[in-house]
Amino acid sequence: MKHTSKPSILILYTGGTIGMVENPQTGALENFGLERFTQLFPELNRQPYNIDYLTLEHPIDSSDMEPKNWVEIARKIADNYERFDGFVVLHGTDTMAYTASALSFMLENIAKPVILTGSQLPIGKLRTDGKENLLTSLEIAAARNRSGGAMVPEVCIYFDSCLMRGNRTTKVNAEGFNAFRSYNFPPLATAGINIRFSPSLIRHPDPLRPFTPHFALDDRVMLLTLFPGIRQEYVEAALLTTDIKALVLKTYGSGNAPQKPWLAPLLHQLSGRGVIIVNNTQCNEGAVEMARYETGLQLLQAGVVNGYDSTIESSLTKLMLLLGSGLSPQEITLRMNESLAGEITL
Ligand code: ASP
Repeated sequence: MKHTSKPSILILYTGGTIGMVENPQTGALENFGLERFTQLFPELNRQPYNIDYLTLEHPIDSSDMEPKNWVEIARKIADNYERFDGFVVLHGTDTMAYTASALSFMLENIAKPVILTGSQLPIGKLRTDGKENLLTSLEIAAARNRSGGAMVPEVCIYFDSCLMRGNRTTKVNAEGFNAFRSYNFPPLATAGINIRFSPSLIRHPDPLRPFTPHFALDDRVMLLTLFPGIRQEYVEAALLTTDIKALVLKTYGSGNAPQKPWLAPLLHQLSGRGVIIVNNTQCNEGAVEMARYETGLQLLQAGVVNGYDSTIESSLTKLMLLLGSGLSPQEITLRMNESLAGEITL
């Protein structure tokens, strides 16, 4: 890459609707290559940045995303970290919030923007939302603050005029262009005629510590959603017969669970064995407060850890990273009670 005053941006293409085309035989959307993508979007050549492209070894529908793909994405960013001012990751919407959450923990103390975006309609369609999403993501990835540093040195999702902290997002709409919401944290920027940033909400790296990428994830985690009538034998089959290391429990309201005679003792048994159990509410907005009701207090007493106002995507990926780092259950519990990348409000 030449050294010029133009910002240098790396576009990493991972797949998703933005780069898909209809298979004439089945009518289903399938990925096409990066080359075809740039042909369909010639405006990319007219941007005031030095743009380079990379692609995953096999671009995929994001429903096929796995932790190993997050590692591949994180590696490509880490390997190219010094050469570029910012990164735009093109990704399917289905699991984009999981990837953004995972990357926010894997790319510790990042000082450059990583903006994930995609679209609900392929780039080849006239009404595509992909062009605006990508062009504005490039502008955000290139934006500088007054002191010349990156305007948004965070892992974010940009979608439908809104820039959100990645580990605060959830996919909420399978139809409209407003596919993502950040329920518990305000947008970092909104884009209209101008892109309006909210500098006081944007995180900055610790200047005394280096950028430290992590590539070890442990997927021995499980998610269990409570519902009225949930059966003991099914829960036991899921939790007792496996070598599970962490469980995200989707509870009611402010972190409450039914007072079934078997549930709290089972959780107590698991936490006694070193399984980290994190309490996340089924509500989109608001935080867990286990001491508020007896139905929540029983969980606290069983050793369940507070998930605060975290998204499910963030809790699961944070646990994968902490387990992958080889920390003890006590250390992981401590870290779950800390904000590592702005993922919880304390
Ligand atoms: N199934 C697609 C994907 O997540 C949906 C999308 O990109 O919007 O890859």
